Amino acid sequence: MTSIRRLYVMLCGYEVIPKTISTRDKGSRFILSEPICAYLLDTETGWVLLDAGVNPDNIRDPARAKLHYLDHGITLPIVRPQHEMERQFAEIGIGFSDVKHVILSHLHFDHSGYLRHFHHARISIQRREYAFAVNGKTSFAYIASDYDAPDLDWHLVDGDWEAQPGLTLLDTRGHTPGHQSAVVELPESGIIVLPFDAGDLQENFDQEILPGESCDDKAALAAIRRLKRIVAETGGQMILFHDPVAIQTTRLAPEFYG
Ligand SMILES: [Zn+2]
Repeated sequence: MTSIRRLYVMLCGYEVIPKTISTRDKGSRFILSEPICAYLLDTETGWVLLDAGVNPDNIRDPARAKLHYLDHGITLPIVRPQHEMERQFAEIGIGFSDVKHVILSHLHFDHSGYLRHFHHARISIQRREYAFAVNGKTSFAYIASDYDAPDLDWHLVDGDWEAQPGLTLLDTRGHTPGHQSAVVELPESGIIVLPFDAGDLQENFDQEILPGESCDDKAALAAIRRLKRIVAETGGQMILFHDPVAIQTTRLAPEFYG
């Protein structure tokens, strides 16, 4: 039996990036506006947040925008008021303090931006990802000031694990050293696979195209194949995190998948 009642998909903004960030060596002339999402679960034991959006302060403050984006040649992400997490939470009827568990796919800036609002919560992440992001030689895709805070309550995990009945996290390392993806079981909708950045776009799965960035190509391809296989074997559906076409037919909060 699943303990998950509802899945809310929150659209937290857009990043404007070369397509090759998502599809290795393919589409170098194209620039995409890719959605940034976060997922909120209403469960029998409380609210669970999967990934933590992008930090609007790093975009709106000119000095921080320069430091984190412009100096690296990155276009500023777009976050409008309707994309802000607190506003979407309010529409659902909760606040940050109602979320007691945050699970992160990885620590790139478009997945960890609101962590500073969750000092009261348990933050679950793969041990490898945490070690790399906090101690490793990371890239501009990691903004340490968003996640390297002393009073966050980290819960470090190794490999596949079940967070609670109906919510399983899978080790899908490859895009980063400790990337994980989620499989959610809902009472009506059945199995929903959330790849996060294991594959940004539908074509990553249809054509088995590697993500633009990977620390281990073999593992990254295995992750794509594993997630595809789960969808096929369970008759489930995949909800993509970064696909600009798929997002337009995804049910967005305050609507939900039940
Ligand atoms: Zn990423």
